[in-house]
Amino acid sequence: MAADKTFDEYQAIALAAVERFEGSPLQHLIGGVPAASVSGETFENHSPVDSSLLGLVASGNAADVDAAARAADDAFADWSGRTGKERKKILHRVADLIEARADDIAAVECVDTGQTIRFMSAAAIRGAENFRFFADHAPDANNGRSMPDEHHVNFSSRKALGPVGVITPWNTPFMLSTWKIAPALAAGCTVVHKPAEWSPYSAAMLSEIALEAGLPGGVLNTVHGFGESAGKALTEHPLIKAIAFVGESSTGSMIQAQGAPTLKRVHFELGGKNPVIVFDDADLDRALDAVMFMIYSLNGERCTSSSRVLIQSTIHDAFVTELGERVQALKVGHPLDPSTEIGPLIHPRHCAKVRSYEAKANNAGATVLVGGGERQGPDSCYVNPMLFTNATNDMEIAQEEIFGPVLTAIPFDTEIDAVQIANDIEYGLAGYLWTGDTGRAQRVARDLDAGMIWVNSQNVRHLPTPFGGTKASGIGRDGGPEYSFEFYMETKNIAIAYDTHAIPKLGKI
Ligand code: NAD
Repeated sequence: MAADKTFDEYQAIALAAVERFEGSPLQHLIGGVPAASVSGETFENHSPVDSSLLGLVASGNAADVDAAARAADDAFADWSGRTGKERKKILHRVADLIEARADDIAAVECVDTGQTIRFMSAAAIRGAENFRFFADHAPDANNGRSMPDEHHVNFSSRKALGPVGVITPWNTPFMLSTWKIAPALAAGCTVVHKPAEWSPYSAAMLSEIALEAGLPGGVLNTVHGFGESAGKALTEHPLIKAIAFVGESSTGSMIQAQGAPTLKRVHFELGGKNPVIVFDDADLDRALDAVMFMIYSLNGERCTSSSRVLIQSTIHDAFVTELGERVQALKVGHPLDPSTEIGPLIHPRHCAKVRSYEAKANNAGATVLVGGGERQGPDSCYVNPMLFTNATNDMEIAQEEIFGPVLTAIPFDTEIDAVQIANDIEYGLAGYLWTGDTGRAQRVARDLDAGMIWVNSQNVRHLPTPFGGTKASGIGRDGGPEYSFEFYMETKNIAIAYDTHAIPKLGKI
């Protein structure tokens, strides 16, 4: 869905939606009932647009997580015992309500995260699509395979794992949380969701929608709070069988350690520093559009962003000149203005981190071709989009995930050089390559060490395909019934003999 309203209309929608949460702190949802924290503690949630206070949020800790995990455990037998068709029906109702409130969700997401309405209007709809896609697969979720051998009928089946924890980040919080929660619910699991503390609003809207859609109490629970308290307690809770986590690689590592004593199953979608390789035989106009889109959309706060552009030396200077002109022309502004391309970054702390790479680029001897510098006025979370050139792959600007509208350009000579530079990184989430040579496309796609490769394309998500990363970018894959259900379900094999096989006779002379 395109952003089809005016700036004023979106502002009115956002104001009305946020006002609904005013008066009392945003609450947890536990066992189908809104709840304050057991401790009574709250934290402030500020908008990155102008630093204004959006409201207070219940700050969960171990006691709240315990109540939510127990509620999820209590609800599990009923929810997993329903037929897939029943779950499908309810999850489609969730999708209907998301669609009906897509404008509210999108506008709230903008003021809560700084993401722009031109992208968030589609992200809310994608949340509904996630529910519909996995709802449609719910009736087949328990199906397994038939693998007969000479003497046995072997068949497998799947059943839901139990209550699971879902921990999500702030970059596109609504879409990402539905991407995890929808398959878990379709599989028959119950969920405790811990949304990011910097972007709690759309998770609260999803809780409301789930209840209204008829999801029984306890099937989806939401506990707000900080990673080190609520998040940590969730990963340590013995009733929680698995953690689906989207966030930074270092947090994934902590979660794995926290979950070890209770043998948590983990699914990690982590950071990236994804290359886009542009060969001189590519359709350079399309490549330029895609390079721009994949780093400067979603404020560059995107795990699959192509934050390193590797450009063949034969076209490097011309390509960089055009790139620079386009970056210079990007429109930074209020996220609810449909003409805005880049909004404020999520939080002053993240903004300071992103800005710090300007100095790192200068200190390393790279060129800050476009951007950088302070923006004037009270807009503390806004940055000027940056383009770094004359970089080498060993610089911090090429190795570290900046997670902002910042692109590092690196020249290369040969196909072998390009693959070597692309793979010389701790991450392996996505890779993009642009070439007109079919053989080269296949060779490079084969040799890039990443979970997802797009050839002559930006990231276009197709829900049945596997999504996830190699190396420090993740563990496991999402997508389709094969990948997502595999994580949220246990597989059982049953072998039944034809009574034709030999049985060794021990203790019988
Ligand atoms: P983050 O790791 O700081 O936080 C993510 C979530 O984890 C938050 O809800 C946070 O409260 C929680 N958390 C923090 N410490 C925890 C702990 N010790 N135990 C349990 N939970 C804890 O990440 P972020 O800054 O919110 O998000 C940005 C990161 O997310 C980037 O690295 C980005 O690449 C990554 N990301 C990855 C994907 C993907 O699909 N691979 C998608 C989106 C974002």
